[in-house]
Amino acid sequence: MKCRSCDSAIIEFFSLGQMPLVNSFLKKEKIVAEKKYDLSVGFCSECYLVQLINTVPPEELFRNYIYFSSTSKFFLEHCKKLAEELTKRLKLNKESLVLEIASNDGAQLQAFKDLGIKILGVDPAVNIAEVANKKGISTMAEFFNYDFAQKLTREKGIQADLIFGANVLAHVPEIVDFVKGVKLALKATGTAVFEFPYLKGLMEKKFDTIYHEHVFYYSLIALINLFKKADLEIYDVEMTPMQGGSLKIFISHPNNFKISENIESLVSEELKSGFDKIETYRKINEQVKVLKNELIDLLKKIKAEGKTIAAYSAPAKGNILLNYFGVNNNYLDFIVDKSEAKQGLYTPGTHLLVYSPEKILKDKPDYLLILCWNIATEIVEQLKEYQETGGKFIVPIPEVKVI
Ligand SMILES: [Zn+2]
Repeated sequence: MKCRSCDSAIIEFFSLGQMPLVNSFLKKEKIVAEKKYDLSVGFCSECYLVQLINTVPPEELFRNYIYFSSTSKFFLEHCKKLAEELTKRLKLNKESLVLEIASNDGAQLQAFKDLGIKILGVDPAVNIAEVANKKGISTMAEFFNYDFAQKLTREKGIQADLIFGANVLAHVPEIVDFVKGVKLALKATGTAVFEFPYLKGLMEKKFDTIYHEHVFYYSLIALINLFKKADLEIYDVEMTPMQGGSLKIFISHPNNFKISENIESLVSEELKSGFDKIETYRKINEQVKVLKNELIDLLKKIKAEGKTIAAYSAPAKGNILLNYFGVNNNYLDFIVDKSEAKQGLYTPGTHLLVYSPEKILKDKPDYLLILCWNIATEIVEQLKEYQETGGKFIVPIPEVKVI
């Protein structure tokens, strides 16, 4: 396999083996036909890009996506704050256009619209784009790439003051074509902002961010090389708590903005941590093994005491953990998720029927395994009543702990 950015050879360093598509929840009759795909990660020692060895065609992954972003209150607040912050920083006004790539059901764009700014969304999931359009969030049901950007700019004369994308940069196999599209669709004075899980998480046992949708695991040193290919410049970088640790990068046409000191300081931190060396990445294997043993020992102990365990929420990362660690109905009594789109369906690979969270207070399991560990504090807060009646929580990542 060749590097998707620079065409050099990739060296594999971690493999989860054959995994199901963790966002493809199943109807009972579809369980027998469920497909699995290799899930292995490699490193390019030329441009430092960490990436999947094999990918699944985007058409198969994103055309009928089940994730509706507006389900979390925490997320909606985040959208509002981000819109305010970017509007102020980039001096957006009523004449400005925000183009969001992978805009999902339009939660982030709604926040910009509320501030009186013009918006346009693009998202390949036809079913979700339809939901957005019905809510008055203009959304084109397409993949963003160079061809699309050409259509937008040359045929329709549209260029954006802000191009925004959360959790999309990691999802696009044809990444060079994608960043060239960004170059084309961005106004001369515009800024593109992307937010995505930071590669550092992999070194902190957050291996469950590895799934087929995530083709890339970015460090800043790799991103600088990537954007240079499209004649774009990263002028600032921030760390955010999203997805258990993300980076937010600010991009412009070259020499438009003063380069922030954050860039140099993060680059030197990454080099100090060995993000440019394959040996650094190989350590993940041992760390994940230790984590797995700790969690499985705990679950075994609880079951041996005759107690019950349910899983709280079935996010993509949770399904990776369940599948890779072999946690299914051998340990779990049931699983719940707030998203109505998932309820009544079976989890990928582990085939657990997804219930509504109401079942927790009804059945009162002794333990709740929080699979959306990145928002564990919010979950514990929401489930106070469960905790007050004796329920306990297990947080599996980055350290196994019982609350
Ligand atoms: Zn490369």
